[in-house]
Amino acid sequence: MSGVWVWIEQGDGKPLPASLEALGLARQLAGSDPVTALVFGQGVDSAAQAAIQSGADAVIKANDASLAAVRFEPYVALLDKLIAEQKPGVVLAAATADGRELMAGAAADAGAGVLTDVTELTLDGDTLRAVRPVNGGKVLRVESIQDAGPKFATLRARAFKALEPDAGRSGTITEVAPVLAEDAVSTTIESVEHEAGGVSLTDASIVVSAGRGVGGPDGFAPIRDLADVLHGALGASRAAVDAGWIPYEHQVGQTGKTVSPDLYIAIGISGAIQHQAGMRTAKVIVAINKDPDAPIFKLARYGIVGDLFEVVPALTEAFRKRLN
Ligand code: FAD
Repeated sequence: MSGVWVWIEQGDGKPLPASLEALGLARQLAGSDPVTALVFGQGVDSAAQAAIQSGADAVIKANDASLAAVRFEPYVALLDKLIAEQKPGVVLAAATADGRELMAGAAADAGAGVLTDVTELTLDGDTLRAVRPVNGGKVLRVESIQDAGPKFATLRARAFKALEPDAGRSGTITEVAPVLAEDAVSTTIESVEHEAGGVSLTDASIVVSAGRGVGGPDGFAPIRDLADVLHGALGASRAAVDAGWIPYEHQVGQTGKTVSPDLYIAIGISGAIQHQAGMRTAKVIVAINKDPDAPIFKLARYGIVGDLFEVVPALTEAFRKRLN
């Protein structure tokens, strides 16, 4: 059992940034062993090339209409077959909804362990050891799988670094056929809704979030301006989402998205434990709140006590002058 495999999640032939981060980590874990990217879908040639440029020595490609959208049955059937035939030491994926589902399915079929949503990962012989935040990020737990067989892990977005793409890298591409014929797959994808424009929350290096403090849907206007100037993504607390001021796709927290940006700016957000669960692993947290006792200040590296409707436009103006 050797070599590190990475399932590359892609859309329109473009790998997800978190999948490229997984390849960067795979390169470190593999040492002199090969890194293999698994690229399944339809029209995936450019994703296969991108995987090689970002660190894969080999690509196993499955290009078929039945794999156009990620579906559990055909994807796991193909993963199971390849893993049983080629016996990789480690199989990685980004900890997205699909990555978690596929790794859990393939690991269960292989009778193997899976470490989920990890932020650190090392491989020492047959021992795969991970750090993963639990209890809303309040506890960092070290977990390991010691097994000569394949070991699985899903990686939190932005916890690992992708390699600088190198157009001069070369690698082998092997094409394989799907295992299940379309009529053997019971799931049909009826429609797909893409997230509305802007920067993706989970991939963003800067997130500007606001909560009930903005007072209504119009209160998000200055927050959006700040996010735009910083080229950041717009986040929100559940209170703002529940009030109908901003769609759910922006919610950060226990029942929303988990983000790990370099910079998280929490504006008019008190910092409830359920909100913290989605953002406490941000590298730098800045809080803007008129209540000096708001719990968010305990977590923040920098705090501004003041009215957001004065502070935020002033900050936006200052950043605009500096950055443009
Ligand atoms: P508030 O707690 O009302 O805070 C508003 C803040 O704005 C206050 O600190 C106030 O001082 C400040 N403020 C007001 N006006 C101004 C101004 N003009 N200038 C500056 N500051 C101002 N919450 C999440 O966010 N995400 C989740 O995923 C989530 N999941 C949950 C799951 C469960 C099971 C439960 C029970 C709760 C969950 N919550 C979640 C809700 C959470 O407990 C809080 O109720 C919520 O986070 C509060 O949102 P908030 O900070 O925007 O509002």
